[in-house]
Amino acid sequence: MAGSEAAWQIASAGLNCVLFEMRPVRATPAHKTDQLAELVCSNSLKSEGENSAPWLLKEELRRCDSLLLRAAREARVPGGQALTVDREVFAREVSRAIEENPRIELRREEATSIADDAITIVATGPLTSGALAEEIGRLTGSERLFFYDSISPIVDSESIDLTVAFRASRYGKSMDGTDDYLNCPLDREQYERFVDTVLAAEAVPSHIPEDNARFFEACLPIEELARRGRETLRFGPMKPMGLEDPRTGRRPYAVVQLRQENLRADSYNLVGFQNHMRFPEQARVFRMIPGLERSEFLRYGQIHRNTYINAPALLMPTLQLRTRPAVFFAGQISGVEGYVESIATGLVAGWHAAELASKAEIRAFPRETAIGSLCAYVSGADARNYQPANITFDLLPALDEPTRLRFRHDKKARHAEVCRRALEKLDEYRAIYA
Ligand SMILES: Cc1cc2nc3c(=O)[nH]c(=O)nc-3n(C[C@H](O)[C@H](O)[C@H](O)COP(=O)(O)OP(=O)(O)OC[C@H]3O[C@@H](n4cnc5c(N)ncnc54)[C@H](O)[C@@H]3O)c2cc1C
Repeated sequence: MAGSEAAWQIASAGLNCVLFEMRPVRATPAHKTDQLAELVCSNSLKSEGENSAPWLLKEELRRCDSLLLRAAREARVPGGQALTVDREVFAREVSRAIEENPRIELRREEATSIADDAITIVATGPLTSGALAEEIGRLTGSERLFFYDSISPIVDSESIDLTVAFRASRYGKSMDGTDDYLNCPLDREQYERFVDTVLAAEAVPSHIPEDNARFFEACLPIEELARRGRETLRFGPMKPMGLEDPRTGRRPYAVVQLRQENLRADSYNLVGFQNHMRFPEQARVFRMIPGLERSEFLRYGQIHRNTYINAPALLMPTLQLRTRPAVFFAGQISGVEGYVESIATGLVAGWHAAELASKAEIRAFPRETAIGSLCAYVSGADARNYQPANITFDLLPALDEPTRLRFRHDKKARHAEVCRRALEKLDEYRAIYA
């Protein structure tokens, strides 16, 4: 996805490039064909509902003349509000455009090293081959290259019941003098019921067989913890030690801690709640937690095979490696999540690589845009707790206070305003290239 988009953008800037694709010479555990831009699972590029965050990202890409978004239009099949595509037509359109482009040389071979004397975009995805992963580990430091994603759910802060959840950090040890966490207290009965429900919840079928087996001990899914013993969660992510509920003056039996997301406005992460439950099951199960009965989920928990770098420790907002600016990362390996997010970072890397090659000034995408916000997130989030992200409104900068107040009671209008601002900034940015 990202590699095809990047190559196309470089060629569109009038430059030549080589695109390496190891299939069919070497397979991945998920791809089934030798086509470029193969959608490995769902055929949905998410919502086309106007003024939604996934729509905004796609609209920005369309305005930047994305090849893959153009192919998606050709391949569109009925899918309600979502942009769903016929995966064969989609991959065929992209493959044909790349193969017919005289500025792109497509080499069907495995890349195993990163050249010192060339501008390189690494866009080898969540299933990057082993030899190249080793090379990336050497370049970035192996401790900054991850092979599994353990994503915990994120809820909209406005949907948390603050008459139940209380602010505090364990033993009053706050990082900055404020109370860092929101804490949802459970009594014994609530905890027992929660454990029973987690144990009975339906799991996501695994895409890749080995996914189920090799969880890192440090990021076990909560249902695996629950299976290990009824008290395990209470001694793990739900431990109540050092916390006192101000309403009862006592330590709760168990606690779910919510951490404010760094760089993501208005959202909280359920700490240590990575899991393998189906998304509707997660909504049902987590709404049993006191304080989260009406919570709106911005992202659900997941654990899956995913090769990605600790981008905030390594990348600039232009997706260049800080220590080697001629090397860019794009797609899932750069720390974003999802097809369209991968396309977007491919487009960014393609534009900036072309600027670097032409010795033009490299200008990051505006922070107000969805594309710029993705890049700001991957390069600027907290490197200690880094988790890949899909596009959501909480990645975009908040509106200024008067505008926010004006639309205080109208979330739809707020989102429309964020989209309007993003597209205006994008058009200004694009105008410089015109
Ligand atoms: C099993 C699975 C299911 C997923 N399902 C979804 C989903 O339903 N919806 C969604 O939005 N996202 C999904 N994702 C996440 C992600 O959005 C996709 O994986 C997306 O394809 C990532 O785009 P990419 O360009 O980063 O990588 P890819 O599209 O995987 O492209 C990377 C390419 O690099 C090639 N390659 C790897 N190593 C080398 C090498 N050393 N040399 C040469 N070529 C190499 C691969 O063959 C591949 O063609 C899924 C991921 C996985 C693994």
